[in-house]
Amino acid sequence: MELMRNRIRPYAWGSRTAIAELTGAPCPSAHPQAELWMGAHPDDPSVLVGEGGDVSLLDAVVADPDGMLGEAVASKFDGRFPFLLKVLAAAEPLSLQAHPSAELARRGFDAEEAAGVARSDPSRNYTDPWAKPELICALTEFHALCGFADPAHAVDVLRGLDVAGLDHYLALLAGQRDAEGTRALFSTLITIPPNAVSSLLEAVLAACVARVREGVSPHVAQYRTALELAERYPGDAGVIASLMLNRVTLQPGQALYLHSGNLHAYLSGTGIEIMGNSDNVLRGGLTPKHVDVPELMRVLDFTPGPVEILGGQAAPQGEVVYPSPAPEFRLSRLQLDARPHDVTHPGPQVLLVTEGDAVVETADGGRLAVSRGQSVWIAARDRGVTVSGPATVFRATDGL
Ligand SMILES: [Zn+2]
Repeated sequence: MELMRNRIRPYAWGSRTAIAELTGAPCPSAHPQAELWMGAHPDDPSVLVGEGGDVSLLDAVVADPDGMLGEAVASKFDGRFPFLLKVLAAAEPLSLQAHPSAELARRGFDAEEAAGVARSDPSRNYTDPWAKPELICALTEFHALCGFADPAHAVDVLRGLDVAGLDHYLALLAGQRDAEGTRALFSTLITIPPNAVSSLLEAVLAACVARVREGVSPHVAQYRTALELAERYPGDAGVIASLMLNRVTLQPGQALYLHSGNLHAYLSGTGIEIMGNSDNVLRGGLTPKHVDVPELMRVLDFTPGPVEILGGQAAPQGEVVYPSPAPEFRLSRLQLDARPHDVTHPGPQVLLVTEGDAVVETADGGRLAVSRGQSVWIAARDRGVTVSGPATVFRATDGL
């Protein structure tokens, strides 16, 4: 086991305080700090801080996949580290996006390779051939748009605006309240030509202002979100489309699992995010980055319905597990007192301390003191691994 040194991604939507506070760095930070990456992604692999010198986790996995990942994980994922753990700190909304399934990622990646699109090309959709299932667990109150809402709900939200110009769009969903109607309305809204979208947006936003002022509608939070998105991305058809999505608020300790094809946009808050070790993102708007609507339409899952908020399931010794079907990862949270908690596992493992101070020990006499904001890498070959507090620790492993 080794302490990890992790890189921070400075995307413009990041917070200047959340990651700095967690890691004990000068606060506020000089630049936005959006994501702290813990893993072996080639773009920003973590560094293992060892007695024999520092080594990239990516290089260490390549040199000894069985010892680092365990045989089962190494063989299932072709010797590749399967997950990426992040602290995500959003001061402003992220783009409207979805991630491809394993099959679509492979097909999309191969097609772009065959077409000779450089991997550094900003118009490239698939930077790797891997799926990116995602799970976010809130550290602070966390706001998101996630998945297409039940059609009856979406119709109610849009009708509640009482904008005549929306009527013929609404008919697409009101007359067919299922995945096909959802697809028809979303694809129509997101592709309204720029000259037509500005007048419609103007009417929609004026109605949102009126509804928020009246404060009577049950959809005030959703209308307010549309106004906030419009302020950041004026003229973006994604603002109207956002009214079709579930508006979700997570309390600390609650989580969301996003399967492939789920359309989502994180709005604000700090969370622990775990995902397949991939950077494949298809964007539909609300971003200055590359948007490819036809490709997004190919990967989207239009099945509408309410979002399942995960409260975590109690496991032995006070461990709370966030269940997900993804083979790439498993996330749990440990509320530790001074007693040692056994975390020995036959696969790769990262422990992140979010409160207090933890001690990690191994059967061969290894001992590491880990403070708030620090993370530890535990190789599959490490035996008799225990962690003690008092501390709150997020535990990330494979999902096999
Ligand atoms: Zn995402």
